[in-house]
Amino acid sequence: MLRRDLLATLAAPLAATAQEVNRTRGLPPLTIKNVRIIPTSGGGRYQWVFVKIETSEPGLYGLGSASNVNNAFSVVSAIEKHYAPFWIGKDVARIEDNWQNTHVRSYWRNGTIHNNVLSALDMALWDIKGKRAGMPVYDLLGGKARDAVPMYAHADGRDLNALTESARKYIEEGYRHVRVQLGGYGGGGMIAPGQGSRPATGFRGVAFDEELYVDVIPKMFEHLRVKLGNDVKLCHDVHEHLTPIMAVELSKRCEPYRLFFLEDVLAPEQIQWFRNIRQVCTTPMAMGELFTHPLEWVPLISERLIDFFRGRVSQIGGITAAKKVAALCETFGCRTAFQEGGDNDPVNQLAAYHVDLSISSFGIQEENHFPRIVHDMLPGTAVLKGGYLYGSDKPGLGIEINEALAAKHPLVPPPGGDSWTTVRGMDGSLVKP
Ligand code: MG
Repeated sequence: MLRRDLLATLAAPLAATAQEVNRTRGLPPLTIKNVRIIPTSGGGRYQWVFVKIETSEPGLYGLGSASNVNNAFSVVSAIEKHYAPFWIGKDVARIEDNWQNTHVRSYWRNGTIHNNVLSALDMALWDIKGKRAGMPVYDLLGGKARDAVPMYAHADGRDLNALTESARKYIEEGYRHVRVQLGGYGGGGMIAPGQGSRPATGFRGVAFDEELYVDVIPKMFEHLRVKLGNDVKLCHDVHEHLTPIMAVELSKRCEPYRLFFLEDVLAPEQIQWFRNIRQVCTTPMAMGELFTHPLEWVPLISERLIDFFRGRVSQIGGITAAKKVAALCETFGCRTAFQEGGDNDPVNQLAAYHVDLSISSFGIQEENHFPRIVHDMLPGTAVLKGGYLYGSDKPGLGIEINEALAAKHPLVPPPGGDSWTTVRGMDGSLVKP
């Protein structure tokens, strides 16, 4: 190579750096100037909390999700009273340092509300960094490792025919992966109100019976394989309703139907039982949407006891944490299936999307169908088409918020006193979600 060519090659990246240096020469570091909290119902049934981190550069800000469907008002109060004052004045460029500093700010770490707040800051800082660089976040994370993000659909039906038709509709839309549920949480194991042998007084409502459930679900898969064939990749969510030995039994009985994964077959308190499941069958295991502490997922991944990590990005510490989990998954042959769920918001969905696009250990992403008003309130909300998710490709996360529209739909406490997690057995005892 000629000397002048060599010098030109060396000078090219330096020119880009020099441009940034020139632009910021003599200026103090870009800092967090203000933290805006935007709570909203999303135009209806949602419980969302967004955080807008405003910087010392006029007009430059980042958006993050601190949503927590069960404790939304606690998150708002935590940010307002404790975290926002801690963040003001911090250097926005130092994402890792701000993450670690916020992580230990409360001394006690890994709490659910704390993790929501930490995740919101982290997403907003990545959003700001992307906007400054003029790149989507996935480019900052290493660039695309795939062209779009495959999603799994949620098929449901009160009986086998309705479920088959629901699944068929999604397959025809282009979905290759479909989660199949026989009538909501615990469906297939539910006994109708007042039916069966009940105590003389007390609980008379819909009751869960695990023997019934473990009998019905394999029959459901047998029916679906006959009707739908083997091409579709089927998932099922147990919602942690089983005692550990029945979880082992169900996993074994599902093996012939070649599931893509069986989700949350164990409660988080009983995850050591994954060792027993691994010894008796090859049904792929997905777990983690209730996890908030690395000590919950590190042993399961490093001992190769689960196949899909199901943590929610806004519940484990944001994009920074999700990238680290993805690297751990890659090392040990596990894959990601970041949790979304019906309460999810578009900012957290995009945080997962940018990580999904840029990692080798990606497995699948859970779907969300947002109504029109959400797309109006949050322009840049990713679009779901033919079983794949597409972001806007704009710099940063690629999403904005219409605060005036969000203000028209304020956060209100959910009707019914947050009782959806309460499931009871025939004798009236609690079944853990
Ligand atoms: Mg689940």
